[in-house]
Amino acid sequence: MIFNKPIVDSHVHIETRDSERTEKMLLEMKEIGVKEIAALSIVCSPDYGIEQNLLVLKWKRDSRDVKVRAFGCFHEVDSYAELPYEKQAEALLDMGCDGIKFLQMKPNYRRIIGKGVCDPSYDKALSMLEERGVPTVFHVADPFEFWDITKMSESYIARGWFYGDGRHMPYEDYYTEVFSMLSKHPRLKVSLAHFFFLANDIDKARRILEKYPNVSYDITPHPRMYTEFSENIDAWRDFFIEYQDRIIYGTDSQDERERNINIHKTAYYSLTKSRDEFPMPAYYKDKCIRGLELPESVVDKICEHNFHAFLNNKDVPLNEELIDRAARHLLRKIERDESRADRAAWLREFISKG
Ligand SMILES: [Zn+2]
Repeated sequence: MIFNKPIVDSHVHIETRDSERTEKMLLEMKEIGVKEIAALSIVCSPDYGIEQNLLVLKWKRDSRDVKVRAFGCFHEVDSYAELPYEKQAEALLDMGCDGIKFLQMKPNYRRIIGKGVCDPSYDKALSMLEERGVPTVFHVADPFEFWDITKMSESYIARGWFYGDGRHMPYEDYYTEVFSMLSKHPRLKVSLAHFFFLANDIDKARRILEKYPNVSYDITPHPRMYTEFSENIDAWRDFFIEYQDRIIYGTDSQDERERNINIHKTAYYSLTKSRDEFPMPAYYKDKCIRGLELPESVVDKICEHNFHAFLNNKDVPLNEELIDRAARHLLRKIERDESRADRAAWLREFISKG
């Protein structure tokens, strides 16, 4: 254990169907001192497989080293997308999902999906999640620099994350759409990923928490976030203490990446270390950041208790029969498609181990 206490990571992705890779990631987590994670499905994206929801449920079922919570996601771009969102939500919750992840408002996906989460087609589903107090994680927009090509690295441009090309909405519009959604669903429990990309705007970050009492931020990094905190460290320290119940630990760890440990070090040390500069363990290793030097009771909330409160301190049981039925349904759908033979093989194995 590299940290002095067990922690909970609210923001993890399982991207591969390769069990060995996922097991390796979970084992690394255990060694770091992570006792529990939320695996967030991103099935709304065309870059990941149609089986993403079953994948997070599988690890909730099978993980031994670390407790796994499963966050499902609505289908937007595959053959299940024609199902109304409220039906999808019902099915995901009935199978045993602990919450719902929305990646729909990441600009490259928002463009493909062609509507925002304030669209009326989401209303019934969001009202249901609101009624039942189901936790939701929203990724909204991206760092402000992604609209200015002169401020972007080659690798981010290559990943299709430059949005100032006229094909994507302006930065502010993503926020406008989410506020419009929140005004319809004010009681929805929302964790806004990556600090809502507001680590460069403390006043806006504060105004939003004041206006929307059911909203939290997760501290899942985007590379600039921790340098931005460091540039204004005393003010951010006050902010973290003031809003100690509204901030949730996360890392974006994923099983395709080697050494998620460096991201954990970045996130955890930013909370705990002193305000003296130290080299950033992940992303910009040539840069230095400062710690927020938070009291231990605040660290405990951010790294564990706030996430459990977000989950209503509840354990959602899996319904293995419904999961099995969903897996068989998907298998029938894809088994004649040769290009998806590896997915079908994965599903067969998944069903046989259920
Ligand atoms: Zn993520």
